[in-house]
Amino acid sequence: MTPVLVINSGSSSFKYQLIDMDSEAILASGLVERIGEGLGAAEHTVYARPEPTATGAAGEPSGMATFLDAKRTRELPIPDHTAGFGVMLDAFAAGGPSLEANPPIAVGHRVVHGGARFFEPTLITPLVEINIDELGVLAPLHNPANLAGIRAARQAFPDVPHVAVFDTAFHQTLAPAAYTYAIDDALAASHRIRRYGFHGTSHKFVSEAAAAFLGRPLAELKQIVFHLGNGASVTAVDGGRSVDTSMGFTPLEGLVMGTRSGDIDPAVLFHLARREGMTIDDLDDLLNKRSGMLGLAGSNDLRDIRAAVERGDPRAQLAFEVYVHRLRSYAGAYLAQLGGADVISFTAGVGENAPLVRARALETLGFAGVEIDRARNESPDRGIRVISTDASKVTVLVVPTDEELEIARQTLGVAGR
Ligand code: AMP
Repeated sequence: MTPVLVINSGSSSFKYQLIDMDSEAILASGLVERIGEGLGAAEHTVYARPEPTATGAAGEPSGMATFLDAKRTRELPIPDHTAGFGVMLDAFAAGGPSLEANPPIAVGHRVVHGGARFFEPTLITPLVEINIDELGVLAPLHNPANLAGIRAARQAFPDVPHVAVFDTAFHQTLAPAAYTYAIDDALAASHRIRRYGFHGTSHKFVSEAAAAFLGRPLAELKQIVFHLGNGASVTAVDGGRSVDTSMGFTPLEGLVMGTRSGDIDPAVLFHLARREGMTIDDLDDLLNKRSGMLGLAGSNDLRDIRAAVERGDPRAQLAFEVYVHRLRSYAGAYLAQLGGADVISFTAGVGENAPLVRARALETLGFAGVEIDRARNESPDRGIRVISTDASKVTVLVVPTDEELEIARQTLGVAGR
């Protein structure tokens, strides 16, 4: 067994997964939340491996060969991340699997912003910690929270390698023409203003999984990956390298999201500041937390929007059309940037579960050889699957994303060196 522990730390919570990298099966997962509040909460789930069957189901990749065994929840004060890791260790001791019998060989950490400095998974040293801290200038909500998790985890597991896996790293292959904003270049350089892109771990996982599923060399494929969750982004991937992506300096740019506006004329902000007296913080809150589907139709959950559309709610109808319109614009733009595509994939909460979004996003692309098969698109299947017709020149896929597994793979790649 080769267990790797994956940590995704926020400011008042962290999620974890213990994955056996021999089989890529999840052994346990959990959530420690409300850290620093009066009463914290912890949830720990243990997964059991099924018995090997005649067809050899055991040892399949995660999500297929695992099933839920037991879930435990606790409520107790959790003053800081260090205490949170104590709670996590207690949960392993009480619920298993035993970390003493099978200690993790490495710990992988999700880190949101790696700036232009980190372009691959990186062994965490005190200098790397300083760099992650310094990059908090670019991601003030995320990097300090990621670092709090790293520091607490290094105390809890002092003897194993810790590896940082950056959301931005996959997009470090963007050419200057794709990442440069057309503003004063000296000002941009002094503040490191450029497009970075996010969701890179997911875009990398999905584009590689698509190539493996189709049995085609990654290096030969032109791909467009739509990661449509509460946050949403799309990436053009040429030969396994990100060449364009919709998120920019921050995760605010690009597609219409649950609560974020995506692309907007920046002059709207000048106008609101002048006319409405809104401050920078007001505008930040407006565009990041009160826009997107929430701002347009009152809910950030696409299931609510769909239900409202079916009731004939005109706000929801418009919101849905705005969402689809933006998807189409990016599909067309990335077909142009790549010079056509071999594969278009959909992933994350909306991408994996909303056939209508997939169908509407691509329905005008018949001229480019994209043809969705209605029955395949609407099939309730859960795994990686083709939803285009056999005649379609572009293969359209649904690919369930697994960012934790990707972090574990990259962590093992670094720790095993
Ligand atoms: P994620 O950020 O990937 O966890 O995605 C969360 C989002 O997925 C939710 O806010 C929902 O809008 C969306 N979602 C989940 N299930 C469905 C579904 N069955 N139909 C449409 N949207 C869904």
